[in-house]
Amino acid sequence: MPNKEEICKLYFRDRLSTTKLAKQFRCSSRTIKLLIERSGFKLRSLSEAGKGKLGKESSHWKGGKRHLRGYVLICDNSHPFRDCDNYVPEHRLVMEKHLGRFLNPKEIVHHKNNKPSDNDIKNLVLFKNQAEHWRYHRKEVNNAK
Ligand SMILES: [Zn+2]
Repeated sequence: MPNKEEICKLYFRDRLSTTKLAKQFRCSSRTIKLLIERSGFKLRSLSEAGKGKLGKESSHWKGGKRHLRGYVLICDNSHPFRDCDNYVPEHRLVMEKHLGRFLNPKEIVHHKNNKPSDNDIKNLVLFKNQAEHWRYHRKEVNNAK
């Protein structure tokens, strides 16, 4: 069986089609699709896949950057965890690039200096889940007392 992580990386980062992946891993494209879905990722729709290069060439291109409550959002319409408008928080993208993998939706990226627009990797900390993130904040509050 092909490796799930490897397939998701090739599919989302390198934008290979399920057909191409099937050939590369010598299995059916159905197997590839199932593997991707079982990993909790969204498959690209047919129209998206047909576009090939996204972003600038897309008719929905709005400049690729947006600000929301102090956070910077980046347009990426192939990201598995994009929102319904195809945006992904920049701090998560920076952390993903740093780690070389996608963050799962439970993982939280915290800004050390509490400035949500400062997305330098040195300013970011990764927490396994929201509970760990809150624990960190509680500690911070207690230390300030
Ligand atoms: Zn935080």
